Amino acid sequence: MLTVNAYAAPSATDPLVKTTIERRELGTTDVLIDIKYAGICHSDIHTVRGEWGPVQYPLVVGHEIVGIVSDVGSDVTLHQIGDRVGVGCMVNSCRECENCRAGAEQYCLNGNTGTYASVDRDGTITQGGYSTHVVVVEDFVLRVPESIPFKAAAPLLCAGVTTYSPLVHWHAGPGKRVAVVGMGGLGHMAVKIAHAMGAEVTVLSQTLAKKEDGLRLGADHYYATSDESTFTTLANTFDLIINTVSAKIDINAYLSLLRLDGTVVNVGAPPEPLPVAVFTLFDNRRSFAGSGIGSIRETQEMLDFCAEHGIAPEVELIAADYINEAYERVLASDVRYRFVIDIATLG
Ligand code: NAP
Ligand code: ZN
Ligand code: ZN
Repeated sequence: MLTVNAYAAPSATDPLVKTTIERRELGTTDVLIDIKYAGICHSDIHTVRGEWGPVQYPLVVGHEIVGIVSDVGSDVTLHQIGDRVGVGCMVNSCRECENCRAGAEQYCLNGNTGTYASVDRDGTITQGGYSTHVVVVEDFVLRVPESIPFKAAAPLLCAGVTTYSPLVHWHAGPGKRVAVVGMGGLGHMAVKIAHAMGAEVTVLSQTLAKKEDGLRLGADHYYATSDESTFTTLANTFDLIINTVSAKIDINAYLSLLRLDGTVVNVGAPPEPLPVAVFTLFDNRRSFAGSGIGSIRETQEMLDFCAEHGIAPEVELIAADYINEAYERVLASDVRYRFVIDIATLG
């Protein structure tokens, strides 16, 4: 066992505090990662506050992890000591079910092993990336291309792949009109990636406060959803709408913005249901879909795509003792556009 420093939630309501946790001994196919940076995803907040259901405390979250390989098990072939690597939302899956065999292990029929708050193979509860080290089986560890600045690479492991996967699946590209609802961590990556894919990109944000940024990041158009005329101006416009909003919104208002055969893909994960008016789906033969993170193969593909296109998240680097304040700022939509913890401050 390796005892390592971490920042943990003691309960659903207490602030996160510095503590220590145990990491397992290195197995033959495991990689030990010296974590350098960890992103703060809104899912971390939903989870520690128990919004998606009960979890065991203390809990260390964080599933946007980059670091350097500092040791490898005897059978490891994919990574070497000194490599720049990343870990996203999953650290294992059953490898045997239909979905795992199809390379869609994020949809493992036996439940993928989440990077935190999941029951691991040895029966312990997985603990995430707000810590100095993590031990992960080699084929759930990604290669981070040299050209992506390291601190900015962390959010790609969740925000990057969660937006890349539906953009690829629903064919964002030249001639396609794509809207992104919510310009936070996921939303700003959706804008950059959809733009790099050649789509015409529109941001639908609560206000115009981030309009200049949105246009700079690659959006062609930017509208405020607080202005009701937005919904009449843009009716029947989009092929694809990626909803990244962390709260309950009136999804029918957004469905009405789809043109023929258009799809709204929900990646935002509010705990409440989003009721759909079926008649809104009849018009234009619209679809309402969901998408969960991305596979390991897609995550590597996304990292390589971002390197090739010179894309990286916009990050604000923080010390570990700022995590609780950062959470409040995320909740207030005051994030430009992802907080990343400098793990050196946890040493
Ligand atoms: P975030 O940085 O907080 O961004 C969410 C954005 O939604 C905000 O910046 C804001 O954008 C908008 N928003 C927030 N509250 C709103 C409200 N009441 N009404 C309208 N718009 C609102 O969060 P994130 O890290 O990007 O995560 C977004 C959601 O995706 C979370 O629910 C998270 O759990 C989920 N998620 C899902 C997956 C998946 O696999 N499907 C993966 C990762 C995260 P504006 O200021 O531009 O309006
Ligand atoms: Zn996430
Ligand atoms: Zn499986």
